[in-house]
Amino acid sequence: MTTKQSLNFIRDRRKRELLDADRLHALLLETQPEYYELEKQIRSLRLDVLKGKGDENELAKLREKRLLFLQKIGIKLEMLEPAPHCEICGDSGVTSNGYCRCVIAHQTAADTTLFSFEESNFDLFGEESELAKRVYAIMQKYCAKFPEVNKNNVVIVGKCGSGKSYLATAMADCVLKKGYTCFLTTAFGFINDMLKYHTAPLADKAEIIFPYLDCDMLVIDDLGSETKLNNVSEEYLYLVLNERTAKKRSTVITTNLDYEQISARYGERIASRLFDKNNSIVTSVSNTDLRKR
Ligand SMILES: [Zn+2]
Repeated sequence: MTTKQSLNFIRDRRKRELLDADRLHALLLETQPEYYELEKQIRSLRLDVLKGKGDENELAKLREKRLLFLQKIGIKLEMLEPAPHCEICGDSGVTSNGYCRCVIAHQTAADTTLFSFEESNFDLFGEESELAKRVYAIMQKYCAKFPEVNKNNVVIVGKCGSGKSYLATAMADCVLKKGYTCFLTTAFGFINDMLKYHTAPLADKAEIIFPYLDCDMLVIDDLGSETKLNNVSEEYLYLVLNERTAKKRSTVITTNLDYEQISARYGERIASRLFDKNNSIVTSVSNTDLRKR
């Protein structure tokens, strides 16, 4: 799902809910004389209050009366005055800084089936289940502390089928449940978007790269499995990592490549950024030798 589709979803949902509320209001006016009378009084008194000559206490009393009437006929106030789902943007999807975080959260949730730490089943990992348990525990702690973490980057190395993707989605799930934004993508999705970014007209660029830069946690699953594109892979991976490091935002990478292989594929500056002990937690869910620096 694109950012724009998520934005439309959020706006359309708001429109629909307001329209439903309007319809209910009209129906009540038409069929409930008591409601009609109360509404009429509230409206005229509200105008008076706005002009500074009405009694606010009286207005509050009328509203209370209306509320009681609604209760009596089994209608909740939020059906008539639905609150927006997002308090930050009021479901407009945008803030003065660009897209609201609810848009990214929706985009991630729509694209992914998330597993949780609580659902983890280590029996699946066979002889490496003890190792997996330890790494999961470390990452669960990391997410529990998030965003108050000392190291912004996490690199999870593991063979195919070692549960590293599962772990990455559990991290995303945990961070989203805490109310932070997390954008979860595969290396394939990332490269596709970066190619789009590379070729898009200037006016469309921001929207494409926005989720990668702005979310509180970015997860790129299975780095190294995607096709490598000259002038795109290295350049934009570095740009994203760099921007996120500068803003102290977390990036989680899963990969089956070690330091040397990352360095050979994406260049030394990306490898050293990812494996930088001062800002990265590098861990393995497979019993492989990690060549850390
Ligand atoms: Zn919002």
